[in-house]
Amino acid sequence: MSKPLKLSDILLREDTNVIHCPSRDGHHIHHESVEIFNRSEDSKDGIHVLVSEHEVITDRNLKGNPSSRCHGLIVYFCCEECSAIIKMKLYQHKGSSFVGMVFGETE
Ligand SMILES: [Zn+2]
Repeated sequence: MSKPLKLSDILLREDTNVIHCPSRDGHHIHHESVEIFNRSEDSKDGIHVLVSEHEVITDRNLKGNPSSRCHGLIVYFCCEECSAIIKMKLYQHKGSSFVGMVFGETE
């Protein structure tokens, strides 16, 4: 189960520049990998890049793009204080850009 969160919700907390875990509100989360989806508006074709600890994968698979029509970006974090797998999503939709955080628990 995940809940959406706005970047402004994160940055307006007391210790402003620290990103908190959306699951348990801890502040020891680690950036692990980044996924970039780049395509023209409504194009079925585009570029996908995944950068993780030991590799870079480049292909044209847009599955998982947080934007249904344009560009998207996902930064993956793990939490030191709980088992949440956290995604920060940046995506474009109808001329505006959005940010949000979602999380899921590992088993
Ligand atoms: Zn956590």
